[in-house]
Amino acid sequence: MSPGAERLKRLPPYMFAAIEQKIAAKKAAGVDVITLGIGDPDVQTPDFIVEALQKHAARPDTHQYPSNRGRESFREAFAGFYERRFGVSLDPDSEIIPCLGAKEAIANINLAFLNPGDTALGSDPGYPVYTTGPIIAGAEPVPMPLVPELGFQPDLDAIPADVADAATLMFLNYPNNPTGGVIEDDFFDRVVAFAKKHDLIVVHDNAYSELTYDGYVAPSFLETPGAKDVGIEVFSLSKPWNMTGWRTGAVLGNSELIHAYWQLKTNLDSGMFEAIQEATVAALESDQSCVKDMVDIYQRRRDTLVESLRTIGLDVTPPKGAIYIWARAPEGTDSRAFTERVLEEADVVISPGAAFGPSGEGFVRMSLTLDDDRLNEAAERISKLV
Ligand SMILES: *Cc1c(COP(=O)(O)O)cnc(C)c1O
Repeated sequence: MSPGAERLKRLPPYMFAAIEQKIAAKKAAGVDVITLGIGDPDVQTPDFIVEALQKHAARPDTHQYPSNRGRESFREAFAGFYERRFGVSLDPDSEIIPCLGAKEAIANINLAFLNPGDTALGSDPGYPVYTTGPIIAGAEPVPMPLVPELGFQPDLDAIPADVADAATLMFLNYPNNPTGGVIEDDFFDRVVAFAKKHDLIVVHDNAYSELTYDGYVAPSFLETPGAKDVGIEVFSLSKPWNMTGWRTGAVLGNSELIHAYWQLKTNLDSGMFEAIQEATVAALESDQSCVKDMVDIYQRRRDTLVESLRTIGLDVTPPKGAIYIWARAPEGTDSRAFTERVLEEADVVISPGAAFGPSGEGFVRMSLTLDDDRLNEAAERISKLV
């Protein structure tokens, strides 16, 4: 018997299987392996957010089925945050809806908007759900290469008109995981024009606008004139507020798209625990000093790791956003081979760029979500590679 629907059999193979076996073997042999593989913040959620959860969890008015639309206080808090932070006005009733983390939203947006045989353009390299989401919906992911020479923006002019016309969705993400790329000032304007021309829905995955360095301030896609006509933004609390385990975020923007997502969601889940919604309100309405602290921490870690990578001759640009270093593998090694070598010789786990899509080949990703001592140790070990 080989159980599993066709949609599962169409999913790409799991890239980390071989590496995981090697890590397990090393650990079993007592080797101290340091992992820069996954992007899951190591610092705990700020106390005031945990306290807001505790307070609201003790109140019976949070204990029943939540509405998929979210509490009014939750939607108002997002509207206020978007107004203060981005100068974007949103109607809390029709243009904001909670999601159980960005991953849930991105996966389900495919189910809400794609018919079998449809296509979805996705940033390549990119968050893996831009590829697996369309497959699960019975549609086809179309990789949209991010161009290193363009600061890891896609070259919109290079997308053939028939491919653009055929596509239903386009997934973008800036500041970008895995490349750390940020946009040029007019990029989102060009995206809006492109989406109007080719009748596309734009989904901007905004996981990292609050984690930027060297004074760079990232925009929301929704700041762009016309953005609300063509798309939605997915905002996540996971990375900036160290809340990956909490599963909280929101989908914001075009009201008809939000309505369709809501309609799907009423059939799939029963919303977000209301005490978590209230903790989200506390995070969004705070003075944001906790986010600034994280920016300082990540910027320091970034500089440490960049320095040691340069010591071994790697070509690396310090990223202006997100929580990863994206570096070219040494000349003549592919990303998987270099990843294996770093594990073999330095006992450090990094991610092969090819795991994020075909255009990630030739690069590797290192996550900054490790405390300073361990990160320094990893940097030290890498700098001794020959
Ligand atoms: C971490 C990450 C997500 C997932 O965020 P959750 O809100 O925790 O589901 C989505 N997109 C990108 C680009 C990410 O890096």
